[in-house]
Amino acid sequence: MIPFIDLQAQRLRLDGKIEAAVAEAVVGGAWVMGPQVRQFEADLSAFGQAKHALGCANGTDALALPLMAWEIGAGDAVFVPSFTFAATAEVVPWFGAEPVFVDVDPVTYNMDPAKLAAAIDAIKAEGRLTPRVVIAVDLFGQPADYPAIKKIVDQHGLKLISDSAQGFGCTVDGKHPLEWVDVTTTSFFPAKPLGCYGDGGAVLTNDDELAQLLDSVRVHGKAVAVDLKDRTFEHDPKYLNMRIGRNSRLDTIQAAVLIEKLKVFGDEIEWRNRIAARYNEGLRAHVARVPDVPAGHMSTWAQYTIEHPNRDGLVAHLKEQGIPTAVYYPIPLHMQPAYENFPRGAGGLPETERLKDVVMSLPMHSDLDEATQDKIIAAVASFKG
Ligand SMILES: *Cc1c(COP(=O)(O)O)cnc(C)c1O
Repeated sequence: MIPFIDLQAQRLRLDGKIEAAVAEAVVGGAWVMGPQVRQFEADLSAFGQAKHALGCANGTDALALPLMAWEIGAGDAVFVPSFTFAATAEVVPWFGAEPVFVDVDPVTYNMDPAKLAAAIDAIKAEGRLTPRVVIAVDLFGQPADYPAIKKIVDQHGLKLISDSAQGFGCTVDGKHPLEWVDVTTTSFFPAKPLGCYGDGGAVLTNDDELAQLLDSVRVHGKAVAVDLKDRTFEHDPKYLNMRIGRNSRLDTIQAAVLIEKLKVFGDEIEWRNRIAARYNEGLRAHVARVPDVPAGHMSTWAQYTIEHPNRDGLVAHLKEQGIPTAVYYPIPLHMQPAYENFPRGAGGLPETERLKDVVMSLPMHSDLDEATQDKIIAAVASFKG
């Protein structure tokens, strides 16, 4: 049986380094906020060309932290794509605000900037909610159209988050999304391109004050330098809670795993791109669409996703031959029971509703060898449905 994502192959390739790093973290005893966390945060900010990188508990919390720092709440609108994992929208109602679903581009599957602009205008015209934040998602590893989205966000004075849980490491014209956004968030869930051995996440920013507020909200709203500026307190400010926060830390053991994984992540992104190019070449004639990346954009290929008019037939055909596939996302967020009553962009979400029936993802990971890939390509080509 061919694995959909083969993380054991990666572990074996790293030849005991991860096991040794975990053992060292266990023996070291600083299991919470240990030196590995600081080390990884420094490594991550260097990789992501960010002034600040802060670890947190998972990629969902990573999205919540900036919303808390900006005090997003009841009456606020946060614009999110309709075709994404639930976490992107989930954090918004945590704080009493409402997600507004925006349709996606038919080629990149990322938030459509024109539809974002229309959705903001419609929410403003209606007057019930105040537009505050846009969360763009780097779906399947491809960067969103940040230059276009940033223009719209600036016109309306909104904040911009890059949910790069799937796309961390992706670039537009050689630049990370952080070039355009206030905060990049990511997830280290094992199956993401940069994964740990449990749950983990991070936020990256170039804004010094925001970095402090993010640090505050991830540790119970502790007092940070901006809170203490020009003020004196009777007690040790260490015990002050300046705002409502949460407990969202990256474990030392997970940081130890990530230090080793980040060292090879750049190479792995290259391999993933080579694998995707081979898939595109072998499959272009056999399916309705292969994932082309716009000029100047670089994907990290969290998923390799094709379109086929008889998607379910192809899924069954591949299954018979021992080839696993996955469908992301069969039920878009605005059609989920928990989210169906939130606002949608003007004109509905026709592209999202088309994609749900035709997309499917093939095995994709940095250790996918050519022989296995050729078997997968041949199996897709042999489908006569
Ligand atoms: C996985 C994912 C998240 C959430 O990450 P967790 O670490 O599982 O909380 C958020 N957004 C997107 C787009 C994701 O794919």
